[in-house]
Amino acid sequence: MKDLIIAANWKMNKTIPECISFISDLDIRLSQWELNPKLKKLGILIFPPAISLHPMNGRSKFISLGCQNIYFEESGAYTGEISVKMIREYTEYALIGHSERREIFKETDKEINKKIKTSLDAGLAPLLCIGETLDEREADKTFDRLAEQLRSDLSGFPPIEIEKIIFAYEPVWAIGTGRTATPEQAQEVHAFITEEINKISGRENKRMILYGGSVKPENSKELLTKKDINGALIGGASLNVESFFAIIEKSLELV
Ligand code: PEP
Repeated sequence: MKDLIIAANWKMNKTIPECISFISDLDIRLSQWELNPKLKKLGILIFPPAISLHPMNGRSKFISLGCQNIYFEESGAYTGEISVKMIREYTEYALIGHSERREIFKETDKEINKKIKTSLDAGLAPLLCIGETLDEREADKTFDRLAEQLRSDLSGFPPIEIEKIIFAYEPVWAIGTGRTATPEQAQEVHAFITEEINKISGRENKRMILYGGSVKPENSKELLTKKDINGALIGGASLNVESFFAIIEKSLELV
């Protein structure tokens, strides 16, 4: 397992040529550290639009690809959906339960639970996103909400499967808003999430928990130095190769 994971969620942005140009540019920048053993301690992931997975595949040995969403059925009458079978060859990770999927597309914890299972069965590492809304935080319900999401989303999985899951704490109020949780706020929640997962799985283990919510080069290092923050899931600042690379460069100093 990597010491830190730096992941880009491009959402519905970038055409195929733009995706190819980005990965080629980033690959050239990363190749300067090819012989630096620290680079191996960094997991660099990109979640591009699904249509770009195939064309981006194999263009960088430093960058892994992930799918932003999957459907839990293998095939059939599910217009617009993508099954793991279709993308399995081009991706190692599946982003599951992002707050935009939960809010805009009304994805439920039950569906998220099924998607985690589908992803694990196909050998893809799920990156499960959880987080509270502003109303929940202001009503002092952050921990209740996160515990509820974890219990439902992880329901039925044996500890050995839970170990394969990467988590992302993404406070909904910090996504795309420019408002970031302070490193202390984020650390407090990450410590809580670690404990909850340990309780659910019945095993005391180190978990990979990324922080997401307006991470940028200016705040990434402070967040990533916190004990239980094992990486970042980045939206806006990952769309620009300079700012995404700047976050990677700062992370390299921490591994
Ligand atoms: C995200 O979409 O997962 C995200 C964290 O976005 P942003 O970095 O733009 O807040």
